[in-house]
Amino acid sequence: MRVNSQRLHDDLSRLAEIGATPGGGVTRLALSDEDKAARDLLRSWLEDAGLAVRVDDLGNITGRRAGSAEAPAVILASHLDSVRQGGRYDGAYGVLAALEVVRTLNDHGAATRHPIEVVDWTNEEGVRFEPAMLCSGGVAGRFDRDYVYSRTDRDGVRFEDELRRIGYLGKEANRPGPGAASLEAHIEQGPVLEAEDLPIGVVLGIVGITWLDVRLSGRADHAGPTPMAHRRDALAAAARLISGVEAMARETDETVATVGRFVVEPNSINTIPGRVVMSVDFRHPSASTLDALVAGLTRLAVDVQRESGVEIAVDRFWTSEPTPFDNGVQAAVQAACDELGVPSRRLWSRAGHDAKYAQDLCPAAMIFVRSRDGLSHNEAEYSAPDDLEAGANVLLLAALRLADARSR
Ligand SMILES: [Zn+2]
Repeated sequence: MRVNSQRLHDDLSRLAEIGATPGGGVTRLALSDEDKAARDLLRSWLEDAGLAVRVDDLGNITGRRAGSAEAPAVILASHLDSVRQGGRYDGAYGVLAALEVVRTLNDHGAATRHPIEVVDWTNEEGVRFEPAMLCSGGVAGRFDRDYVYSRTDRDGVRFEDELRRIGYLGKEANRPGPGAASLEAHIEQGPVLEAEDLPIGVVLGIVGITWLDVRLSGRADHAGPTPMAHRRDALAAAARLISGVEAMARETDETVATVGRFVVEPNSINTIPGRVVMSVDFRHPSASTLDALVAGLTRLAVDVQRESGVEIAVDRFWTSEPTPFDNGVQAAVQAACDELGVPSRRLWSRAGHDAKYAQDLCPAAMIFVRSRDGLSHNEAEYSAPDDLEAGANVLLLAALRLADARSR
Protein backbone atom coordinates (compact mmCIF):
# COMPACT_ATOMS: atom_id res chain seq x y z
CA MET A 1 0.00 0.00 0.00
CA ARG A 2 1.38 3.41 -1.00
CA VAL A 3 0.06 6.98 -0.89
CA ASN A 4 -1.09 8.87 -3.99
CA SER A 5 1.72 11.36 -4.46
CA GLN A 6 -0.08 13.43 -7.09
CA ARG A 7 -3.12 13.88 -4.84
CA LEU A 8 -0.93 14.97 -1.94
CA HIS A 9 0.93 17.40 -4.18
CA ASP A 10 -2.28 18.84 -5.66
CA ASP A 11 -3.80 19.42 -2.23
CA LEU A 12 -0.64 21.04 -0.88
CA SER A 13 -0.78 23.41 -3.85
CA ARG A 14 -4.49 24.08 -3.33
CA LEU A 15 -3.97 24.81 0.38
CA ALA A 16 -1.01 27.09 -0.40
CA GLU A 17 -3.38 29.35 -2.37
CA ILE A 18 -4.93 30.39 0.96
CA GLY A 19 -2.87 33.25 2.33
CA ALA A 20 -0.48 33.01 -0.65
CA THR A 21 2.28 35.64 -0.72
CA PRO A 22 3.94 37.09 -3.84
CA GLY A 23 7.19 35.28 -2.97
CA GLY A 24 5.56 31.84 -3.17
CA GLY A 25 4.95 31.34 0.54
CA VAL A 26 1.94 31.83 2.80
CA THR A 27 0.83 34.11 5.61
CA ARG A 28 -1.83 32.23 7.54
CA LEU A 29 -1.77 33.48 11.11
CA ALA A 30 -3.73 31.53 13.69
CA LEU A 31 -7.47 32.35 13.80
CA SER A 32 -7.20 34.85 10.91
CA ASP A 33 -9.59 34.79 7.95
CA GLU A 34 -6.92 32.82 6.08
CA ASP A 35 -6.72 30.25 8.88
CA LYS A 36 -10.51 29.97 8.80
CA ALA A 37 -10.47 29.38 5.03
CA ALA A 38 -7.76 26.72 5.41
CA ARG A 39 -9.73 25.07 8.21
CA ASP A 40 -12.94 25.08 6.13
CA LEU A 41 -11.08 23.44 3.25
CA LEU A 42 -9.50 20.82 5.53
CA ARG A 43 -12.87 20.13 7.09
CA SER A 44 -14.45 19.52 3.68
CA TRP A 45 -11.61 17.18 2.72
CA LEU A 46 -11.90 15.26 5.99
CA GLU A 47 -15.65 14.88 5.48
CA ASP A 48 -15.16 13.81 1.86
CA ALA A 49 -12.82 11.11 3.16
CA GLY A 50 -15.65 9.83 5.34
CA LEU A 51 -14.19 10.98 8.64
CA ALA A 52 -16.26 12.12 11.60
CA VAL A 53 -15.10 15.70 12.16
CA ARG A 54 -15.20 17.42 15.54
CA VAL A 55 -13.88 20.72 16.89
CA ASP A 56 -12.83 21.19 20.50
CA ASP A 57 -12.93 24.13 22.90
CA LEU A 58 -9.44 25.26 21.76
CA GLY A 59 -10.31 25.06 18.06
CA ASN A 60 -8.33 21.88 17.42
CA ILE A 61 -9.90 19.95 14.51
CA THR A 62 -10.05 16.17 14.59
CA GLY A 63 -11.20 13.86 11.78
CA ARG A 64 -11.73 10.32 12.99
CA ARG A 65 -11.68 7.11 10.99
CA ALA A 66 -13.24 4.35 13.04
CA GLY A 67 -11.29 1.28 14.07
CA SER A 68 -12.60 -2.25 14.34
CA ALA A 69 -12.18 -2.19 18.12
CA GLU A 70 -13.05 0.20 20.92
CA ALA A 71 -9.46 1.28 21.36
CA PRO A 72 -7.52 4.53 21.73
CA ALA A 73 -6.69 6.29 18.47
CA VAL A 74 -3.49 6.60 16.49
CA ILE A 75 -3.20 10.38 16.14
CA LEU A 76 -1.58 11.89 13.02
CA ALA A 77 -1.20 15.60 13.62
CA SER A 78 0.41 18.91 12.73
CA HIS A 79 -0.78 22.50 12.16
CA LEU A 80 -2.24 24.71 9.41
CA ASP A 81 -1.20 28.09 10.84
CA SER A 82 1.98 29.78 9.60
CA VAL A 83 4.35 32.58 10.48
CA ARG A 84 4.23 35.87 8.53
CA GLN A 85 5.59 35.20 5.04
CA GLY A 86 6.27 31.60 5.94
CA GLY A 87 6.60 28.58 3.71
CA ARG A 88 3.86 26.37 2.32
CA TYR A 89 5.10 23.12 3.94
CA ASP A 90 5.68 23.93 7.62
CA GLY A 91 2.76 22.28 9.42
CA ALA A 92 0.50 22.02 6.37
CA TYR A 93 2.51 19.06 5.09
CA GLY A 94 1.95 17.05 8.27
CA VAL A 95 -1.81 17.59 8.24
CA LEU A 96 -2.19 16.79 4.54
CA ALA A 97 0.12 13.77 4.74
CA ALA A 98 -2.15 12.48 7.53
CA LEU A 99 -5.21 13.10 5.34
CA GLU A 100 -3.47 11.27 2.48
CA VAL A 101 -2.82 8.29 4.77
CA VAL A 102 -6.54 8.00 5.52
CA ARG A 103 -7.51 8.37 1.87
CA THR A 104 -5.04 5.64 0.98
CA LEU A 105 -6.55 3.33 3.59
CA ASN A 106 -9.96 4.09 2.11
CA ASP A 107 -8.75 3.37 -1.44
CA HIS A 108 -7.52 -0.04 -0.31
CA GLY A 109 -10.47 -0.85 1.93
CA ALA A 110 -7.98 -1.35 4.76
CA ALA A 111 -9.29 -1.76 8.29
CA THR A 112 -7.33 -0.92 11.42
CA ARG A 113 -7.99 -2.13 14.93
CA HIS A 114 -7.32 1.31 16.42
CA PRO A 115 -9.19 4.35 15.09
CA ILE A 116 -7.05 6.90 13.24
CA GLU A 117 -7.44 10.60 14.00
CA VAL A 118 -6.18 13.39 11.73
CA VAL A 119 -5.57 16.49 13.83
CA ASP A 120 -4.93 20.18 13.09
CA TRP A 121 -3.57 21.76 16.28
CA THR A 122 -4.51 25.45 16.73
CA ASN A 123 -1.84 28.18 16.98
CA GLU A 124 1.36 26.15 16.76
CA GLU A 125 3.53 29.02 15.61
CA GLY A 126 2.77 31.44 18.42
CA VAL A 127 3.45 34.50 16.25
CA ARG A 128 -0.05 35.91 16.68
CA PHE A 129 -0.85 34.50 20.12
CA GLU A 130 2.10 33.64 22.37
CA PRO A 131 3.29 31.13 23.39
CA ALA A 132 3.87 28.62 20.60
CA MET A 133 2.13 25.22 20.62
CA LEU A 134 -0.63 26.81 22.64
CA CYS A 135 -3.44 24.37 21.97
CA SER A 136 -1.57 21.07 21.97
CA GLY A 137 -0.22 22.39 25.26
CA GLY A 138 -3.79 23.16 26.32
CA VAL A 139 -4.95 19.61 25.66
CA ALA A 140 -1.85 18.26 27.41
CA GLY A 141 -2.71 20.32 30.49
CA ARG A 142 0.35 22.57 30.22
CA PHE A 143 -1.93 25.62 29.85
CA ASP A 144 -5.43 25.90 31.27
CA ARG A 145 -8.32 27.07 29.13
CA ASP A 146 -8.59 30.51 30.73
CA TYR A 147 -4.93 31.10 30.00
CA VAL A 148 -5.39 30.06 26.35
CA TYR A 149 -8.56 32.17 25.95
CA SER A 150 -6.97 35.28 27.46
CA ARG A 151 -3.98 35.39 25.08
CA THR A 152 -4.11 38.58 23.00
CA ASP A 153 -2.50 39.53 19.71
CA ARG A 154 -0.62 42.79 19.12
CA ASP A 155 -3.93 44.62 18.52
CA GLY A 156 -5.32 43.43 21.83
CA VAL A 157 -7.71 40.92 20.22
CA ARG A 158 -8.42 37.95 22.52
CA PHE A 159 -7.90 34.37 21.43
CA GLU A 160 -11.36 33.32 22.57
CA ASP A 161 -13.09 36.12 20.65
CA GLU A 162 -11.25 35.26 17.43
CA LEU A 163 -11.95 31.55 17.86
CA ARG A 164 -15.68 32.33 18.18
CA ARG A 165 -15.59 34.82 15.31
CA ILE A 166 -14.22 32.28 12.84
CA GLY A 167 -16.69 29.63 14.03
CA TYR A 168 -14.23 27.19 15.57
CA LEU A 169 -15.12 27.34 19.26
CA GLY A 170 -16.22 23.79 20.03
CA LYS A 171 -16.58 21.55 23.06
CA GLU A 172 -13.99 20.22 25.48
CA ALA A 173 -15.40 16.72 24.96
CA ASN A 174 -14.24 16.99 21.32
CA ARG A 175 -10.54 17.13 22.10
CA PRO A 176 -8.30 14.67 20.21
CA GLY A 177 -7.71 11.23 21.64
CA PRO A 178 -7.51 9.33 23.85
CA GLY A 179 -4.45 8.26 21.92
CA ALA A 180 -2.58 5.00 21.62
CA ALA A 181 0.23 6.80 19.78
CA SER A 182 0.83 10.11 18.05
CA LEU A 183 2.89 10.80 14.94
CA GLU A 184 3.78 14.12 13.34
CA ALA A 185 5.31 14.34 9.88
CA HIS A 186 7.09 17.67 9.36
CA ILE A 187 9.76 19.23 7.19
CA GLU A 188 13.15 19.20 8.90
CA GLN A 189 13.66 23.00 8.76
CA GLY A 190 17.40 22.36 9.07
CA PRO A 191 20.30 21.25 6.83
CA VAL A 192 21.26 17.87 8.36
CA LEU A 193 19.37 15.50 6.05
CA GLU A 194 20.32 17.39 2.90
CA ALA A 195 23.99 17.39 3.90
CA GLU A 196 23.92 13.61 4.21
CA ASP A 197 21.73 13.11 1.14
CA LEU A 198 18.96 11.44 3.15
CA PRO A 199 15.26 12.05 2.45
CA ILE A 200 13.93 11.10 5.89
CA GLY A 201 14.84 11.63 9.54
CA VAL A 202 13.56 9.54 12.45
CA VAL A 203 13.29 12.11 15.22
CA LEU A 204 14.74 11.16 18.59
CA GLY A 205 12.96 13.93 20.43
CA ILE A 206 12.88 17.68 20.98
CA VAL A 207 15.99 19.13 22.55
CA GLY A 208 15.86 21.03 25.80
CA ILE A 209 16.17 24.81 25.61
CA THR A 210 17.32 27.16 28.32
CA TRP A 211 17.38 30.95 28.18
CA LEU A 212 19.55 33.24 30.28
CA ASP A 213 19.99 36.96 30.71
CA VAL A 214 23.51 38.11 31.53
CA ARG A 215 23.91 41.62 32.99
CA LEU A 216 27.36 43.18 33.10
CA SER A 217 27.92 46.32 35.15
CA GLY A 218 31.24 48.08 34.69
CA ARG A 219 31.98 51.81 34.69
CA ALA A 220 31.39 54.26 31.87
CA ASP A 221 34.46 56.43 31.59
CA HIS A 222 36.42 58.59 29.16
CA ALA A 223 38.03 56.54 26.38
CA GLY A 224 41.14 58.76 26.40
CA PRO A 225 42.42 59.54 29.90
CA THR A 226 41.52 56.15 31.43
CA PRO A 227 44.52 53.76 31.27
CA MET A 228 43.78 50.13 30.41
CA ALA A 229 44.55 48.94 33.94
CA HIS A 230 41.95 51.31 35.38
CA ARG A 231 39.04 50.26 33.21
CA ARG A 232 35.96 48.26 34.02
CA ASP A 233 34.79 47.73 30.46
CA ALA A 234 31.49 45.85 30.35
CA LEU A 235 31.63 45.23 26.60
CA ALA A 236 35.15 43.79 26.66
CA ALA A 237 34.02 41.45 29.44
CA ALA A 238 30.90 40.52 27.45
CA ALA A 239 33.08 39.68 24.44
CA ARG A 240 34.96 37.14 26.56
CA LEU A 241 31.66 35.57 27.62
CA ILE A 242 30.41 35.35 24.03
CA SER A 243 33.64 33.64 22.93
CA GLY A 244 33.30 31.30 25.89
CA VAL A 245 29.69 30.41 25.03
CA GLU A 246 30.66 29.66 21.45
CA ALA A 247 33.63 27.55 22.54
CA MET A 248 31.48 25.55 24.98
CA ALA A 249 28.97 24.83 22.21
CA ARG A 250 31.69 23.69 19.81
CA GLU A 251 33.29 21.45 22.44
CA THR A 252 30.06 19.74 23.49
CA ASP A 253 28.52 17.39 20.94
CA GLU A 254 24.96 18.21 19.80
CA THR A 255 25.04 21.63 21.48
CA VAL A 256 23.94 24.87 19.85
CA ALA A 257 24.34 28.18 21.65
CA THR A 258 23.36 31.68 20.57
CA VAL A 259 23.83 35.17 21.93
CA GLY A 260 21.02 36.81 20.01
CA ARG A 261 20.08 39.87 22.02
CA PHE A 262 22.60 42.45 23.07
CA VAL A 263 22.36 45.96 24.51
CA VAL A 264 25.40 48.10 25.24
CA GLU A 265 25.37 51.45 27.04
CA PRO A 266 26.10 54.19 26.44
CA ASN A 267 27.06 52.92 22.96
CA SER A 268 29.28 55.86 22.23
CA ILE A 269 32.59 55.90 20.33
CA ASN A 270 34.62 57.70 22.99
CA THR A 271 33.11 56.24 26.17
CA ILE A 272 34.16 53.00 27.81
CA PRO A 273 31.01 50.81 27.85
CA GLY A 274 29.52 50.78 31.35
CA ARG A 275 26.69 48.34 30.93
CA VAL A 276 25.74 45.34 28.80
CA VAL A 277 22.67 43.12 28.85
CA MET A 278 22.82 40.03 26.66
CA SER A 279 20.86 36.82 26.18
CA VAL A 280 22.13 33.26 25.89
CA ASP A 281 20.12 30.43 24.30
CA PHE A 282 21.50 26.90 24.94
CA ARG A 283 19.94 23.82 23.31
CA HIS A 284 20.84 20.18 23.95
CA PRO A 285 19.07 16.79 24.13
CA SER A 286 20.10 16.21 27.75
CA ALA A 287 18.93 18.22 30.76
CA SER A 288 22.14 17.47 32.66
CA THR A 289 24.26 18.80 29.78
CA LEU A 290 22.16 21.95 29.74
CA ASP A 291 22.84 22.30 33.47
CA ALA A 292 26.55 21.77 32.82
CA LEU A 293 26.56 24.45 30.10
CA VAL A 294 24.92 26.91 32.48
CA ALA A 295 27.41 25.98 35.20
CA GLY A 296 30.26 26.51 32.72
CA LEU A 297 28.96 29.94 31.80
CA THR A 298 28.56 30.83 35.48
CA ARG A 299 32.16 29.75 36.24
CA LEU A 300 33.42 31.78 33.30
CA ALA A 301 31.44 34.79 34.55
CA VAL A 302 33.12 34.49 37.96
CA ASP A 303 36.58 34.38 36.31
CA VAL A 304 35.83 37.31 34.01
CA GLN A 305 34.40 39.33 36.91
CA ARG A 306 37.53 38.73 38.99
CA GLU A 307 39.88 39.67 36.18
CA SER A 308 37.92 42.62 34.76
CA GLY A 309 36.29 44.17 37.81
CA VAL A 310 32.98 44.10 35.93
CA GLU A 311 30.10 42.75 37.99
CA ILE A 312 28.31 39.94 36.17
CA ALA A 313 24.90 38.50 37.04
CA VAL A 314 23.66 35.37 35.25
CA ASP A 315 19.91 34.74 35.35
CA ARG A 316 18.53 31.49 33.97
CA PHE A 317 14.93 32.59 33.53
CA TRP A 318 13.31 29.94 31.32
CA THR A 319 13.85 26.27 30.52
CA SER A 320 11.96 23.86 28.31
CA GLU A 321 13.03 20.38 29.28
CA PRO A 322 14.18 17.90 26.62
CA THR A 323 11.44 15.59 25.33
CA PRO A 324 12.77 12.23 24.13
CA PHE A 325 10.22 10.53 21.91
CA ASP A 326 8.83 7.07 22.62
CA ASN A 327 11.08 4.19 21.58
CA GLY A 328 8.19 2.06 20.36
CA VAL A 329 6.78 4.78 18.08
CA GLN A 330 10.27 5.58 16.80
CA ALA A 331 10.75 1.87 16.07
CA ALA A 332 7.52 1.86 14.02
CA VAL A 333 8.88 4.79 11.99
CA GLN A 334 12.24 3.09 11.52
CA ALA A 335 10.55 -0.15 10.47
CA ALA A 336 8.49 1.79 7.92
CA CYS A 337 11.68 3.33 6.48
CA ASP A 338 13.30 -0.09 6.29
CA GLU A 339 10.26 -1.66 4.65
CA LEU A 340 10.21 1.10 2.02
CA GLY A 341 13.98 1.04 1.54
CA VAL A 342 14.08 4.76 2.31
CA PRO A 343 17.49 5.90 3.62
CA SER A 344 17.19 7.67 6.95
CA ARG A 345 19.02 8.66 10.08
CA ARG A 346 18.06 9.45 13.66
CA LEU A 347 18.28 13.10 14.64
CA TRP A 348 17.08 15.51 17.31
CA SER A 349 14.72 18.36 16.60
CA ARG A 350 16.14 21.69 17.75
CA ALA A 351 12.84 23.48 17.14
CA GLY A 352 9.63 23.05 19.11
CA HIS A 353 6.70 21.08 17.68
CA ASP A 354 3.23 20.07 18.86
CA ALA A 355 4.60 16.53 19.19
CA LYS A 356 6.38 17.72 22.34
CA TYR A 357 3.04 18.14 24.11
CA ALA A 358 1.45 15.20 22.29
CA GLN A 359 4.06 13.11 24.11
CA ASP A 360 2.31 14.14 27.36
CA LEU A 361 -0.89 12.55 26.05
CA CYS A 362 0.40 9.29 24.61
CA PRO A 363 3.62 7.80 23.17
CA ALA A 364 4.73 10.10 20.33
CA ALA A 365 7.37 10.53 17.64
CA MET A 366 8.06 12.55 14.48
CA ILE A 367 9.13 11.99 10.90
CA PHE A 368 11.31 14.66 9.28
CA VAL A 369 11.44 15.26 5.54
CA ARG A 370 14.51 16.85 3.96
CA SER A 371 14.37 20.64 3.50
CA ARG A 372 16.19 22.36 0.65
CA ASP A 373 19.01 24.54 2.01
CA GLY A 374 17.63 23.83 5.49
CA LEU A 375 15.37 26.82 4.94
CA SER A 376 12.08 27.39 6.82
CA HIS A 377 9.96 30.24 8.16
CA ASN A 378 10.77 31.68 4.75
CA GLU A 379 8.79 31.92 1.52
CA ALA A 380 11.50 29.94 -0.26
CA GLU A 381 10.97 26.90 2.00
CA TYR A 382 10.93 23.82 -0.23
CA SER A 383 10.90 20.05 -0.06
CA ALA A 384 10.97 17.92 -3.21
CA PRO A 385 7.80 16.00 -4.19
CA ASP A 386 9.67 12.68 -4.02
CA ASP A 387 10.75 13.40 -0.44
CA LEU A 388 7.25 14.48 0.55
CA GLU A 389 5.93 11.26 -0.95
CA ALA A 390 8.52 9.21 0.96
CA GLY A 391 7.58 10.93 4.20
CA ALA A 392 3.88 10.27 3.64
CA ASN A 393 4.58 6.61 2.89
CA VAL A 394 6.63 6.33 6.08
CA LEU A 395 3.72 7.91 7.95
CA LEU A 396 1.32 5.45 6.31
CA LEU A 397 3.30 2.31 7.12
CA ALA A 398 4.17 3.46 10.64
CA ALA A 399 0.50 4.28 11.28
CA LEU A 400 -0.51 0.85 10.00
CA ARG A 401 1.87 -0.81 12.44
CA LEU A 402 0.68 1.30 15.35
CA ALA A 403 -2.99 0.86 14.46
CA ASP A 404 -2.62 -2.90 14.14
CA ALA A 405 -3.86 -3.13 10.59
CA ARG A 406 -5.37 -6.03 8.67
CA SER A 407 -6.74 -6.16 5.17
CA ARG A 408 -10.49 -6.24 4.95
ZN1 LIG B 1 5.67 23.60 12.17
